Amino acid sequence: MSRPVVRPYKKPVHIKEYPKGTCFTAGYLVTENADWRTEKPVINNESCNGCFYCYLCCPEGVIFKKENKVDIDYKFCKGCGICAKACKAKAITMNREE
Ligand code: SF4
Ligand code: SF4
Repeated sequence: MSRPVVRPYKKPVHIKEYPKGTCFTAGYLVTENADWRTEKPVINNESCNGCFYCYLCCPEGVIFKKENKVDIDYKFCKGCGICAKACKAKAITMNREE
């Protein structure tokens, strides 16, 4: 088993300086683990202003940059809802899993 990868951190000043991938890679050391999730965060791209606050708040590091906005890797999102609470633009809603 490989060791966790720690990415060097340089505080971003502008949105262009945020990395493209997730903010850390620890979640990728385990197998896909979102089967037990009961609610799923859904991002409304119309309301999202690309502030990246959710990216910084996600404890799983599964929010990533996509065309200066954000997207979520559902294979690892545990559905905790922290991103939805953190989003001041109310661009993330928690929807019940099917
Ligand atoms: S916190 Fe909300 S507005 Fe900011 S990037 Fe995330 S979804 Fe978009
Ligand atoms: S619901 Fe939790 S784990 Fe999923 S993207 Fe939001 S903060 Fe991350």
